[in-house]
Amino acid sequence: MSAPDAGEHDVLIVGAGLPGLALALALRGSGLTVALVDRRQPSVDDTASWDARIYAISPGNAQFLDRIGVWSRMDPERVTPIETMRIFGDRAGAQLDFSAFDAGERALAWIVEQRELMAATLGAWAAAGQPETIHVDAAPEALVRERDRCALRLENGALLSARLVVGADGLRSWTRGQAGIAGELRPYGQTAVVANFATHGAHHGRAWQWFQPDGGILAWLPLPGRRISIVWSAPEARAEELLALPEREFTDVVAAAGASVLCPLEPLTARASFPLHFMRPAGPVAARVALVGDAAHGVHPLAGQGLNLGYADVEALAAVLNERGPIADPGASLLLGRYARTRALPTLAMQATTDGLWRLFNAGPGLPGFVRNAGMSTLNRLPAVKSILMQPAIR
Ligand SMILES: Cc1cc2nc3c(=O)[nH]c(=O)nc-3n(C[C@H](O)[C@H](O)[C@H](O)COP(=O)(O)OP(=O)(O)OC[C@H]3O[C@@H](n4cnc5c(N)ncnc54)[C@H](O)[C@@H]3O)c2cc1C
Repeated sequence: MSAPDAGEHDVLIVGAGLPGLALALALRGSGLTVALVDRRQPSVDDTASWDARIYAISPGNAQFLDRIGVWSRMDPERVTPIETMRIFGDRAGAQLDFSAFDAGERALAWIVEQRELMAATLGAWAAAGQPETIHVDAAPEALVRERDRCALRLENGALLSARLVVGADGLRSWTRGQAGIAGELRPYGQTAVVANFATHGAHHGRAWQWFQPDGGILAWLPLPGRRISIVWSAPEARAEELLALPEREFTDVVAAAGASVLCPLEPLTARASFPLHFMRPAGPVAARVALVGDAAHGVHPLAGQGLNLGYADVEALAAVLNERGPIADPGASLLLGRYARTRALPTLAMQATTDGLWRLFNAGPGLPGFVRNAGMSTLNRLPAVKSILMQPAIR
């Protein structure tokens, strides 16, 4: 990785997280010169033996990652298929089951650790001789959009320019703000607490999810062998309690909330926590700017779709740029319009589904409580409807 220097590029990606790096990989062969900017060097933290930060990657995105040289670099020992999933409502008897076999897929999703995915991504990036410069250790300070190009000044004074700037810089995207795209964060009032555990029983590739009476949502996701990773999206006060509990008590609370299905549990990692927000910007593009990843949408993790949406953005933007035909300018409004149109419906649909589900289970008791639980049980008896519902998540 080079030190910051002045440079002219076709595409400048702000944010070298997973979607930002994936875009650089997907643009190889496009004939466009690409550079990345991040305020810190992308790296892999392998100080502990397991990473509590995990992602459920959809089969469609696993294929995309394979096409850009990432998936084949994943250690197969650290990738776990979700073969079945069981979801419980907040009343006894309300249950919904999904199966990869019924959907005609090998897996409903693949569980991977963040650091394994980052290691494979950086491996793919290094393999081709790192043609894209990454400017690190200096955050961008100013973005000036002109008719033909954008000029980007870094905090250390370095000047960069590009015909297209891509904001891949997360939920609180600096690029989004500089481009004048409104994107207010709406807190869910919940914090996700994550941790990994060794289990006594075998999970057989099953994931579980429990919607809880306080509006919290607990997911148990399968890791290799007799191990699971949990994501507990809990109301903020409850999350604080969970984070403050001694390790043994926390483990017992997790076991009890998960109906002790694989118990006893033994902690494998420290806990980590993430405050949760909804964010829907006015749009994913502005003159000479496109947004991908969390910069373009904030979703509740209850369906494990944030990064999946981000990879789908990247695939769509790369397709538009790779297939630009006679249009030489990657920042041309025609191309940006194409990208925005491709992503409008899938993003809206996924945000509406996850936000709608969250609202349904945070609407309190009474009629909504009856409807959500009765609806789940009814749905469970309608395999055709279930398979239609699953399609967007599997893509
Ligand atoms: C508990 C939890 C569980 C989740 N589970 C799943 C799941 O199972 N499946 C799934 O698909 N998604 C999941 N998600 C969502 C997923 O974590 C995010 O969608 C994803 O991490 C977003 O990546 P990103 O690169 O867009 O943003 P970020 O991860 O925030 O990365 C942004 C990058 O930009 C850089 N950056 C930020 N600001 C600047 C700046 N001003 N200048 C330069 N660089 C900058 C950062 O250093 C970073 O490298 C989950 C989220 C949570 C909280």
